[in-house]
Amino acid sequence: MTDIAEKHSNRWIERHNDLLTQVKQEFRSQFGQAPSILAAAPGRVNLIGEHIDYNDGFVLPMAIERYVVIAAAPLTDSSTANPPTAKAYSIDLQDLTEFSIGSRSKPTVDTWGRYVEGVVAGFLDRGVNVPSFNSVIASNVPTGSGLSSSAALEIATATMLESITGHWLPPAEKALLCQQAEHQFAGVPCGIMDQFSSVFGKLNQLMLLDCVSQSIEPVAFKADEVSILIINSNVKHELSEGEYAQRRGQCEQALRQINKTSWREVMLDDLESAKGSLTSTQYGCAQHVITEIERTQQAAEAFKECNWSRVGELMHKSHTSLQKDYKVSCDELDILVELAGELGTSGGVYGSRMTGGGFGGCTVTLVKTAQIDAIKKFIHHHYQARTGIQATSFASRPAQGAHLIQG
Ligand code: ADP
Ligand code: MG
Repeated sequence: MTDIAEKHSNRWIERHNDLLTQVKQEFRSQFGQAPSILAAAPGRVNLIGEHIDYNDGFVLPMAIERYVVIAAAPLTDSSTANPPTAKAYSIDLQDLTEFSIGSRSKPTVDTWGRYVEGVVAGFLDRGVNVPSFNSVIASNVPTGSGLSSSAALEIATATMLESITGHWLPPAEKALLCQQAEHQFAGVPCGIMDQFSSVFGKLNQLMLLDCVSQSIEPVAFKADEVSILIINSNVKHELSEGEYAQRRGQCEQALRQINKTSWREVMLDDLESAKGSLTSTQYGCAQHVITEIERTQQAAEAFKECNWSRVGELMHKSHTSLQKDYKVSCDELDILVELAGELGTSGGVYGSRMTGGGFGGCTVTLVKTAQIDAIKKFIHHHYQARTGIQATSFASRPAQGAHLIQG
């Protein structure tokens, strides 16, 4: 390890010591031994480029300083079960899940263990021999809030399995393996953003991810005077899963009607020409996709230029488009964004928008670091007054992607 890598690694361990201690202790109490492997993978927040990772777009996420950590040990002695067995205990859910390790394309467990099972299946598909193992999971990534705890769980599992099996995957393949696990085992037809962010996250860098070529352009984000504030509305409206599949379908139909094969080729003029053949829902979806692809590239440029007002303006437009055209926001998210807007630049807010799938979950807000406490106080207070719900929030710098932890 280089000196710089070692310094980062020590700092990471210091910051996340609570999570590490917790997972090691629980491993001992579940399995009566110390773990031999510790792996961590972060959640992510998307700054702009929403609902376009599956629409040939660009997205601009960063890994966040919230991680899923897995402690594990392979079982190699003669008492090992035949067929080999995986055990995983989630501290957060206080639940032990167990499945036999074997090649399959569908889950045999119907709990959160599906994510682990799907990743194991991905390794087996690649001809990798996975032995029996015990594992314990601890996490501080909020779940079901659009910060991608599911991808963090998958990528942490894959990182742990790489270490157990000695089979190191090229990073992009690791992300794609986990995406496939999410599709096949959790039944969520997600794009590539979540898993790529968790694998490729870098300190002080955003990632402009081209979802067509799957290439990443790093966008430096070092300025201490501005921060990314993530506010959890703490609501999740039940309709979200079905609506996600519906939006995907509407976009596919709209693209066919416009007679193009990729959203990358579609201009607003093309949309206007095809307007007569589109339903109003399809038209709204297309409008969002086309404009959001452009906004995302513009926002990456604005970040590079440290033009915070411009970033904020684009974030605001993105929210309006998601609210009015794509129709995936909800009252609670709109209230959070509205409150941030009331503060405005003089109150320390450059811009705010919903992030993630929508219908609840989080907003992401670009703020002046010096005013962050006052901003949180104002938004929490008024959100509670208007909705009766207590919001939670935290700030994060762009964080390091998945890695093993020594010790
Ligand atoms: P998000 O990825 O936005 O957090 P999802 O619904 O995609 O929301 O994924 C959340 C699911 O991932 C949880 O319901 C659970 O099944 C699984 N999960 C995430 N974190 C954990 C954890 N610490 N322990 C067990 N399961 C987890
Ligand atoms: Mg998820």
